[in-house]
Amino acid sequence: MTNNATIVGAGLAGCEAAWQLARRGIQVRLIDMKPEKFSPAHHMEGFAELVCSNSLKAEHLTNASGLLKAEMRRFDSLILRAADASRVPAGGALAVDREKFSAQITKALTEHPLVTFETALVDSLPDAPCIIATGPLTDPALTKALSALPGLRELHFFDAAAPIVTAESIDMEKVFRASRYEKGSDYLNCPMDEAEYNAFYDALVGAELAEVHDFEKKLVFEGCLAVEILASRGRQTLAFGPLKPVGLVDPHTGREPYAVVQLRQENEQGTLYGLVGFQTRLKWGEQKRVFSMIPGLEHAEFVRYGVMHRNTFLRSPDILSRNYALSAQPLFRFAGQLTGVEGYMESAASGMVAAIGLCKALRGEEEPDFGGQTVLGALERHVRTPSPDFQPMNANFGILDPLPMRVKGKRNRYAKLSERALEALDAIIDRYELRN
Ligand SMILES: Cc1cc2nc3c(=O)[nH]c(=O)nc-3n(C[C@H](O)[C@H](O)[C@H](O)COP(=O)(O)OP(=O)(O)OC[C@H]3O[C@@H](n4cnc5c(N)ncnc54)[C@H](O)[C@@H]3O)c2cc1C
Repeated sequence: MTNNATIVGAGLAGCEAAWQLARRGIQVRLIDMKPEKFSPAHHMEGFAELVCSNSLKAEHLTNASGLLKAEMRRFDSLILRAADASRVPAGGALAVDREKFSAQITKALTEHPLVTFETALVDSLPDAPCIIATGPLTDPALTKALSALPGLRELHFFDAAAPIVTAESIDMEKVFRASRYEKGSDYLNCPMDEAEYNAFYDALVGAELAEVHDFEKKLVFEGCLAVEILASRGRQTLAFGPLKPVGLVDPHTGREPYAVVQLRQENEQGTLYGLVGFQTRLKWGEQKRVFSMIPGLEHAEFVRYGVMHRNTFLRSPDILSRNYALSAQPLFRFAGQLTGVEGYMESAASGMVAAIGLCKALRGEEEPDFGGQTVLGALERHVRTPSPDFQPMNANFGILDPLPMRVKGKRNRYAKLSERALEALDAIIDRYELRN
């Protein structure tokens, strides 16, 4: 039985994966191209570099990011250990001094007797057992090799995503369910009259845009037409384009509205809806302000904002099975943003789950199923669930299995979901003997 594994990428996912394997007695060979070569967003020599914000988001249990942290603490997460030791004041969020954070993680791994580190640009697929965690800016030398994997139709190099809202936050009194020309009832339709359309249009074309990094400019401008760019071509462009009302009769009025924003179901459970055609580069605060003007979305909870950025990710549902394993070779795994999770903590979480699963597989034991009640499990499920338009996902309550009963009030509902998640996780830890 093999007792060693290679990890490519010493970022958030790779470091957490290395730690989880090593603390279970697996010998780890950790490889990163830094400092020999840096991606366009990486600049520091150490491991687990935070390439942008220094915030790891909320810590409280009425936030899915907070719940994810509580789940990861059950497994002595290295990323959270280092975050605790390098914390800076940030209200209810966990923010860190990025230099100290990276230094803590680098030290913990380079001093670990079971971890060896190599600087190398990996340009071919390593032998299994391995975990590839090379991130959203995976070096092109390796993406070429990845494209040759069995079952991999394509790698995405660009993320042009529309915002996603929770179903329960949509005002169902205002929207109506229908497909164009009564061909089914697949969409939720937000009807606008002329005044509402004009107010929305003015807000949209006047809204502030997020910055584009130099290395992303070409992709952002050629990759996909953002809704605000389309709008800037003329007041009626949206009304005759993605917001056209043809074939959609509002049952409240018996007429076609002036314009319609369509919402499409995003997940099997029907708890999330995406705004069709709303790929955008608006700043997140602006998205909330402007898109909340859409009738029915006044109180919408945005679980994911629209983004347009360079992001290399796999069509994971085509190739991955449980715990981020390649279906064709279960000892070959992926982790991090490359799999279609999005965010620092989410990347680390996927590294944790991939490593725990790999360790079980190496020992010939049954792999855990983290289920749909924990954020660790719901993220893992998201990346392997078939979807015609697979898009990366961050931690949010909308991806968890819904509660079987109605709980009044968002905070109470989220607290209940967290309570259920931690109980479920404790049962999973016991059932699969995951303490070590
Ligand atoms: C510009 C940018 C800004 C972002 N900002 C945020 C943010 O503010 N908040 C947030 O939550 N998320 C953010 N993200 C998204 C994401 O959470 C981070 O990118 C996160 O670091 C992903 O973790 P990872 O472990 O998958 O990859 P990374 O942390 O990027 O680690 C990948 C590692 O692999 C190495 N590597 C790459 N290719 C090779 C190769 N061929 N051979 C050897 N080594 C290789 C790299 O040097 C790197 O160290 C951002 C992403 C980008 C690109």
